[in-house]
Amino acid sequence: MIKANLNQIRERIQAACERVVRDAEEVTLIAITKYAQKDWVQSLLELGMTDLGESRPQQLAERFEIFNQQQIHWHLIGHLQRNKARRVLPLVAWIHSVDSLRLLQSLERLAAELSLKPKVLLEVNVSHEVSKDGFAVEQLLQDWEAIIQQEHLQVAGLMTMAPLTENVADTRPVFTRLRELREQLQKQSPPAIQLSELSMGMSRDFEVAIEEGATMIRIGRSLFEGLD
Ligand SMILES: *Cc1c(COP(=O)(O)O)cnc(C)c1O
Repeated sequence: MIKANLNQIRERIQAACERVVRDAEEVTLIAITKYAQKDWVQSLLELGMTDLGESRPQQLAERFEIFNQQQIHWHLIGHLQRNKARRVLPLVAWIHSVDSLRLLQSLERLAAELSLKPKVLLEVNVSHEVSKDGFAVEQLLQDWEAIIQQEHLQVAGLMTMAPLTENVADTRPVFTRLRELREQLQKQSPPAIQLSELSMGMSRDFEVAIEEGATMIRIGRSLFEGLD
């Protein structure tokens, strides 16, 4: 079942890339395992998946222990409280959910102390939803000079979640805006800062996100359809 789901998702990625003349190699599929049972995760690994994402630092740490022997790049995609950062930082390759300058700066101090250089993305609340984490666009622009001062973090791009809309096509302006914001911020940054990643698109809207330039898509439900 997971194999069939994965194949179908890969075909849809390929088709979305073809529509906008992109190479499917540019898009990293991250399997979001927050709702997955352990043996489903094991199946994903056997199918060759190497990028896995979790929302909660606690669950990420537990799964890191369980699947420790495998070559996995773990992505933290959910809100990170500063007091959980010390535990999770050594385990992850990527943090997608840096949503304040304060969090970024405390990750910088920790990374220095632990001699790590994790890759981080700045989460942007493009659609101004009150219920959502992430930098407001104005705040991100205002903090940018300070954001790019980090020496022990690789600030590698932006992340967003589109709102749940009735029609999936309505998500497009959110993804377009994130891409434009990335271009604008790249111009305001020294060459050492390369904002190469756009983490956007979930089960519902990943094809639209790919058409708008996503380099990382975060897929949970679609991988596990038909299982329970
Ligand atoms: C859960 C989650 C996803 C995956 O969503 P699906 O609808 O299951 O594909 C992606 N990104 C974030 C930030 C999430 O919390």
